[in-house]
Amino acid sequence: MHSVYMTSDHEEFRRQVRRFMENEVAPHAEAWEEAGAIPREIFKQMGQLGFLGITHPEEYGGSEGDIFFAMVFLEELARSRMGGFSAAVSVQQFMATAHIHQQGSEELKQNYLAPSISGDKVGALAITEPDTGSDVASIRTKAVREGDNWVINGAKTFITNGADGNFFTLACKTNPEGGAGSISLIVVDRDAPGVSVAQRLKKMGWHSGDTAELAFEDVVVPHSNLVGQENMGFYYIMEAFALERLCGAAMGVGSAQLCVEETLSYMQERTAFGRPLTRFQVLAHRLADMATDIEAGRQLTYHAAWLMQEGRPCVSECSMAKLYGSELAKRVSDVCLQAFGGFGFMEEYPMARFYRDARAGTIVAGTSEIMREIISRLMTEGGQPVPPKQREAAPEPKGGGAVEAIKALPERFQAEAVPGWSAVFHLELEDAQPAQWTLSIGEGQCSLNEGLTGEADCLVQMDAATFAEIDSGATDPQAAFMAGKVKVSDLAQMLNYLKAFAPGS
Ligand SMILES: Cc1cc2nc3c(=O)[nH]c(=O)nc-3n(C[C@H](O)[C@H](O)[C@H](O)COP(=O)(O)OP(=O)(O)OC[C@H]3O[C@@H](n4cnc5c(N)ncnc54)[C@H](O)[C@@H]3O)c2cc1C
Repeated sequence: MHSVYMTSDHEEFRRQVRRFMENEVAPHAEAWEEAGAIPREIFKQMGQLGFLGITHPEEYGGSEGDIFFAMVFLEELARSRMGGFSAAVSVQQFMATAHIHQQGSEELKQNYLAPSISGDKVGALAITEPDTGSDVASIRTKAVREGDNWVINGAKTFITNGADGNFFTLACKTNPEGGAGSISLIVVDRDAPGVSVAQRLKKMGWHSGDTAELAFEDVVVPHSNLVGQENMGFYYIMEAFALERLCGAAMGVGSAQLCVEETLSYMQERTAFGRPLTRFQVLAHRLADMATDIEAGRQLTYHAAWLMQEGRPCVSECSMAKLYGSELAKRVSDVCLQAFGGFGFMEEYPMARFYRDARAGTIVAGTSEIMREIISRLMTEGGQPVPPKQREAAPEPKGGGAVEAIKALPERFQAEAVPGWSAVFHLELEDAQPAQWTLSIGEGQCSLNEGLTGEADCLVQMDAATFAEIDSGATDPQAAFMAGKVKVSDLAQMLNYLKAFAPGS
């Protein structure tokens, strides 16, 4: 269906990717699924075609395309007919290298981003651990600074490209006693001494993709492999989750689309009681419902992508698109399998694999429950975009500046809005004098001190002007966060802050 977001260049790119997937990848699906591995050569081929650096900068070999080229690519990955292949490629391009692209040093970009774009290296993003997945702040893998190195110990599990990849963008605690504000991202080579594959995991689906449990034992990594700033990893991960969720949404839509196309052809060929299956109204109406749902999912995904591209608040919309797209693929694969009758259950037909592979979508990149949690929290606890009229009418920052606004926080504190809440915030305001403040909340009281004291539950960094704008209600905090103007180590604490100090009040 025509889309206002897609130009003729996007559609030409779609044709190219589809041709490649159908001619160069899908014919090998059974062999690669059986082998449980993807030949490295195919990454090289995709690198040469510019398929692995679609939105990455040209100076590292990327194409610097807009986000809709990425959406097209992710939808068309389904034509590989392997969820495992699609996952391996999307993790390589949009997850493992995303942080290196956004926050990595020049050295990291040269060593890991450029070779990932060319297909010479394959990367993994390693966050989940045996004891924790959804609750990222509770990871336990630790990195201890020793001279010019980090020494890493811990375990990761369910890691896509974990066994056969070349490097991991690894989430670890740089202060083992701390919470979210102690997480850092460090790039670790797969062949570094002390890294081992504890097991290649056997899975219900995604058979061609490698998913591994990993152990890290006294792994020594140069300090320069730190991505961005120490202790800012949680913020980086949360920021990148929006893109990760868009990937899940587009892949869900693409696989549902292919499922329905396959089912329609089958129903046109297959006859029962002397007529094609398409002539049974109950089955034809199911096709109509699925086509309608797919179109709705596609347009929601494109809308969320557009918001992201425009730098507008999109956390809620990306979460909705991921929830809808992944649940859609699961639902559609089930209905389509049914339309194939007994053949739907047989491995020689594509539906069994589509059904198995779609099942992973509502678990990876944030489960459906976590998507609902994010959407509902944004609805009930604030963070919704400030309507333009309200923004225009917002008063000038109190006292004309950030420092005055900070000093007024204890008076503005609304204990009744956050009963029982206690937290320590470290606020760092670039350009303000003084720049560092500690805000302590507990037992219904709020106090403010200059400087950074004690262990922080939440670290907040921004420039003074942004603080004053948010505080006065002139700027939406979610928009500032998504635009990278605000760095927050713990989003849950920040949501409480917004309730307690009600910007613009
Ligand atoms: C095939 C596959 C590939 C993967 N690839 C990667 C990868 O490359 N890198 C990586 O880091 N991870 C990867 N993962 C891990 C994936 O991101 C996690 O499985 C997922 O985030 C859920 O975490 P968990 O498995 O620990 O479940 P848990 O967090 O233990 O959750 C268990 C259940 O409780 C629910 N739940 C948890 N918290 C809440 C809440 N607050 N409210 C309501 N319900 C809740 C969950 O939705 C789920 O249903 C992969 C997983 C799979 C299956």
